[in-house]
Amino acid sequence: MTSRPFDVYQIRRDFPSLDQHIHGQPLVYLDSAATSQKPRQVIESISRYYSGANANVHRGSHSLTSTATNQFEAARDTVAEFLGAPKNSIVWSRGATEALNLIAQSYGRHILKPGDEILVSEMEHHANIVPWQLVAEQTGAKVVKWPVDPISCQLDMAQLDALLNSNTKLVCVCHISNVTGTLNPIREITEKAHNIGAVVVVDGAQAVVHEHVDVTELDADFYVFSGHKVFAPAGIGALYGKPALLDAMPPWHGGGKMVEKVSFGGTLFAQSPAKFEAGTPNVAGAIALAEAITWYKSIDRKAAERHIAHLQKRLVNGIQSLDDLNIVGLQPAASVVAFYVEGVHHSDLATLLDQQGIAVRSGHHCAHPLMDAIGINGCVRASIALYNTEEDIDRCIEAIRKACDLL
Ligand code: PLP
Repeated sequence: MTSRPFDVYQIRRDFPSLDQHIHGQPLVYLDSAATSQKPRQVIESISRYYSGANANVHRGSHSLTSTATNQFEAARDTVAEFLGAPKNSIVWSRGATEALNLIAQSYGRHILKPGDEILVSEMEHHANIVPWQLVAEQTGAKVVKWPVDPISCQLDMAQLDALLNSNTKLVCVCHISNVTGTLNPIREITEKAHNIGAVVVVDGAQAVVHEHVDVTELDADFYVFSGHKVFAPAGIGALYGKPALLDAMPPWHGGGKMVEKVSFGGTLFAQSPAKFEAGTPNVAGAIALAEAITWYKSIDRKAAERHIAHLQKRLVNGIQSLDDLNIVGLQPAASVVAFYVEGVHHSDLATLLDQQGIAVRSGHHCAHPLMDAIGINGCVRASIALYNTEEDIDRCIEAIRKACDLL
């Protein structure tokens, strides 16, 4: 598909939610790392599905169910192609969190033994920490921290060499940090982990909307993401797993659709991915996710990333021109800027920004260990998407300046 030339004002016309006022001011939405806004093509696809093809999938033989099933399975193919993955290696989930829990409970619980180690980076979102703690408790394995440098907010590859050992069974790491935007060298990590026989779980929640992801090139064993961060609705996401791993894993949830034959003598499970998809799935969400990917692929993504990097630099320059503002782990050309003002509570700052129509996220960003490593209890995060403009950035800088004058 040829992409349309990048024009931010034309792109914005696809996003009805951007055209609104908050506290009497035009909305500046700088919280896309929490969730992206949705293009009308995605919103319309949900309406179209429920107005037409709505039926349960993989059940019955009437026309609507086969139309819905075809669309649902075509959506799986769209996700597979988006990730550079083979067709049947995509399992639907509610999002990144559920996918990580599935890996922990199906793969982890099945293979981990007392004394085994699960290496988890310190910059992870809680979604890529807590499932490993739960499975460690269930199996006697141990979660080991891969520390982050508190200033650069990057991971040290030499430290990885020192931490990997024959007990390491899993390495769990994000592709891009949700707090600082740090881009981790996944290919290098998978190579090192595979040398000692460990399996790598990559949390791609923040990456699929900025990086060109190819799980085959990355050699990731598992890769997860949430649809809502890539222009799709909440409640749908995907898990990629290497087919040999998925085939060897037992199911996590039991119920309808994940079986070949059930009797009171026992159950014969379906093949993967159906084996991991018990119950009625989010059909409309899966179809809308495919629509979101198709929409996103219609954009010149390289130009979009150049635009985002330009806006991030503008925001960084603006913030650095203000007194007493500290940027946390600044990453050049990332889509996020995390910052705090000495002596000012981050949520007070975010509230004053909201009163001026600026939506940013404040708090610990579901990354307590990273906050502890940096030595702060929270910060404000402005996250930029392809639909933001220079005017958005200038209004944000001006609003921070005004808020700091008041605090
Ligand atoms: N991982 C990262 C890096 C995230 O940023 C998020 C959400 O902010 C998650 C995981 C969890 O995603 P979800 O809440 O959609 O399951």
